[in-house]
Amino acid sequence: MKVLVINAGSSSLKYQLIDMQTEKAIAKGGCERIGLEGSFLKHKANGKEVTITSPMPDHKAAIELTLAALVNEEYGAIKSMSEIDAVGHRIVHSGGVYDRSVLINEEVMNVCAENIEFAPLHQPANIMGVNACKAVMPGVPMVATFDNAFHATMPEKAYMFALPYEYYENYKIRRYGFHGTSHRFVSGEAAKYLGADVNNFKVITCHLGNGSSIAAIKNGKCFDTSMSFTPLGGVPMGTRSGDMDPAILEYLAAKLNLGISELITICNKKSGVMGVSGVSSDFRDLANAANEGNHRAQLALDMFIYSCKKYVGSYAAAIGGVDCIVFTAGIGEHDASVRAGVVSELEYMGVVIDEQKNANPTDGICDITGEGSKVKVLIIPTNEELVIARDTAELAANAK
Ligand code: ADP
Repeated sequence: MKVLVINAGSSSLKYQLIDMQTEKAIAKGGCERIGLEGSFLKHKANGKEVTITSPMPDHKAAIELTLAALVNEEYGAIKSMSEIDAVGHRIVHSGGVYDRSVLINEEVMNVCAENIEFAPLHQPANIMGVNACKAVMPGVPMVATFDNAFHATMPEKAYMFALPYEYYENYKIRRYGFHGTSHRFVSGEAAKYLGADVNNFKVITCHLGNGSSIAAIKNGKCFDTSMSFTPLGGVPMGTRSGDMDPAILEYLAAKLNLGISELITICNKKSGVMGVSGVSSDFRDLANAANEGNHRAQLALDMFIYSCKKYVGSYAAAIGGVDCIVFTAGIGEHDASVRAGVVSELEYMGVVIDEQKNANPTDGICDITGEGSKVKVLIIPTNEELVIARDTAELAANAK
């Protein structure tokens, strides 16, 4: 079985064609600048990499170009479109309606549309991606994998805000969480790797990338997560502030004569480690600057690590202990000093890492647990596309 995984953004569309027998991508790529001048497709398959420049006025044109690349004689991966058995779509927000992936039908599309206002930048593009595929590949089963479905199991006390209750009832104001597909994947892989019983396993997953979130997972179910009503909440990120006192916004609005939307844009795009350091949102640049003595770059790193560490400690308290801590995504997989910082001084909780292993991790899943540690510490490369493909294959097979 071959599954096409689509991740549509407002002006981009990333794809992977996954062979479910090997669970490997046999082609991957992405269209960029959709709807803009100078749109192009980058495509990799068969050991070849090509860039195709072609006008893509909309997502339908992007899908058509993608399919043409996939069946191309020279650099394609399949002989005909009929080899694509199902399509899995990454969708950002289900508004808490679905706790798992679902076969796309009219009702699912309605739920997607109803929740546009929770993810106004991403959700319309996700919907366009589905519609474009439906138009070009009629009859092929399509599946929606929601970014926040995994977090739907959080208990009420974890997802509610202490605001007047009617805001939850009338406007669905609550914690939704994001990166759910990644937290689900790495927590599942951790249990498998350790041979643990998922129903008796407490894990804290740290998805640290350009956007970062941490989740507390108890017995296979998400109990709490740091991102919140939007992906702005939680730890500081590349350019996002993370949590802060909301009264700061009113104070700044008066001082700077700015509106609430402008301030939220600043919190999203000009804050985080970028805002504090004034150097970069990229942790490699921050480390270089800090090594050269840049105080604000060091401060930004310290603040990030401190915040992550507080989440790890509080989540261990929330779920009554922890068996395993997982690091994943760009920073979690590649930044040894961030990993070491986050788990430093947690010996009292039974957490010790092996500094050598942490500094030189092997590819794939890497156990960096130190001697005498009661808690396993793992680096697990995330693979959201594989989760989407697995869910899609399963739902499509059952639909037949
Ligand atoms: P996204 O949230 O966009 O998917 P990623 O998970 O790819 O982001 O993470 C991107 C971030 O990972 C970069 O901004 C950079 O800070 C960090 N990163 C990537 N590689 C390294 C590395 N070798 N060392 C330190 N940080 C890294």
